[in-house]
Amino acid sequence: MIESPLDTIANLQRDLLAWFRENQRDLPWRRTRDPYRILVSEVMLQQTQVDRVKPKYEAFLDRFPTLQALAEAPVSEVIRAWQGLGYNRRAVNLQRAAQTVVEQHGGRFPEEPEELIRLPGIGAYTAGAIACFAFERDVAFLDTNIRRVIRRLFCGPDEAEAPGDALLLNIARQAIPSGQGWEWNQGVMELGALICTATSPACWRCPVRAHCAAYAARSEADSTIFSATGSAASGSRPRRLREQQPFTSTNRYFRGRIVDILRTLPAEESIDLEELGVQIKAGFSAADLPWLATLVEGLVGDGLAAWRARDGAELARWQVALPA
Ligand code: SF4
Repeated sequence: MIESPLDTIANLQRDLLAWFRENQRDLPWRRTRDPYRILVSEVMLQQTQVDRVKPKYEAFLDRFPTLQALAEAPVSEVIRAWQGLGYNRRAVNLQRAAQTVVEQHGGRFPEEPEELIRLPGIGAYTAGAIACFAFERDVAFLDTNIRRVIRRLFCGPDEAEAPGDALLLNIARQAIPSGQGWEWNQGVMELGALICTATSPACWRCPVRAHCAAYAARSEADSTIFSATGSAASGSRPRRLREQQPFTSTNRYFRGRIVDILRTLPAEESIDLEELGVQIKAGFSAADLPWLATLVEGLVGDGLAAWRARDGAELARWQVALPA
């Protein structure tokens, strides 16, 4: 058993769990152990804030109340139901995972992370989350919040040398109180969301600061304990460079716009590339057609769009629609 640097792990577990019981948000996916519902929530939450996910989660489950209903739905319906969440590829992967559970597992979710991770689009985090939140297994996994909290609690401030995920996962595994994995992992995530945030951790009101290595190392002022961008381990572009390009000029923005337009088409109808270009981009011209065709090709590869009747036609007249 690991020890937190300042105290026994048992005291840390006690204080975190007590805080979680008192302060947890009432979230719909915390009221269920249905693995289908847990899967839907986890996929939605991967890139999207909780407040945006809540109404979408309820609406999606009204439209596809069971694993079977999602597996049997036309993919175009699933993409339409995903509207407003972004990262539309998640919708296609979610349906593929549902279809695999129905076709290969008789409609019953596997319970072990090693089996769950074989489902389409399910990574290590989601496999662990389903095993823990649906089947109450004492399983460790890392998302952004858990990684940050475990690192600060056991290893020190953000600017200290970054431990690798293998080490953090090992620590996270040993930190789980036996038989209480569901509550513990929810508690760590909640602490990361509400108190131990990336850029402005509220150490002054943190229930576990007495056990925290980062707090002990640099407790003179909250604002100087942590780097402004959170973990230094990320290989992403510096924030300053990312901010130079407005989101509305990025390919990710235009991919979302394309899918939004395709959603509005009546079933069986398609749109030609030129008309699509005019609708998604101000000042669209013929010179933009190759760029647009490349974006659509990427969406086709991701299962979010389909070409219709392009053989022999000039590029401007190539037809695009949602997949059947
Ligand atoms: S004391 Fe500060 S750094 Fe440590 S867990 Fe709490 S909020 Fe995070």
